[in-house]
Amino acid sequence: MKKNFYKCNGCERKFGRKWNALRHSRSIHSSASEIISNNIKPKTSYISNNKYNRFQKKFDILNKAGIEIYNEYDENMSDIFDIDEKDFKIIKIIDQLIKPFTELEDLLSRTDPKTRAFVLTRSFDQSLRSLNPVEAMNEMVELLCSIKGIKKIAKYRSMIATTSSLDPILETKEKIKNSYLFGR
Ligand SMILES: [Zn+2]
Repeated sequence: MKKNFYKCNGCERKFGRKWNALRHSRSIHSSASEIISNNIKPKTSYISNNKYNRFQKKFDILNKAGIEIYNEYDENMSDIFDIDEKDFKIIKIIDQLIKPFTELEDLLSRTDPKTRAFVLTRSFDQSLRSLNPVEAMNEMVELLCSIKGIKKIAKYRSMIATTSSLDPILETKEKIKNSYLFGR
């Protein structure tokens, strides 16, 4: 894979990350220099340029606040978001998926980190293969929530169980099956 660079035409300095180059241009050249990249992207329309500027301002806020907006996993990889057309879509998709993802993470908070990572990553990847990833992620939340829920209900039932009692999970399911809600 070829390495992307972003060059400042004010002083010829090269940067691995667009954000660093833009920050350099702002602080050293008061934004009077231009950042040139070897990473050729499709021309953006007027509308997407507007979007670009809007997001750029928001990146500025995060940057000033000291929030890390770089790829922390690999120095040589691209910035987290390059704010091109594809990244706009990705931002929107992540925005929708991160809610059920975080709910899932919370539900797994007492699970060991490796298992949690496995379930979260697999659920995320699998949801992306479905037609409605948000719904697919929510279904995983629902499933895990119900597994934990029936165990909780059954635990209380087992505390008052008599010797003739059924398995508390089975008994809970039987109660539900006989309910008005189930038959509706
Ligand atoms: Zn420069």
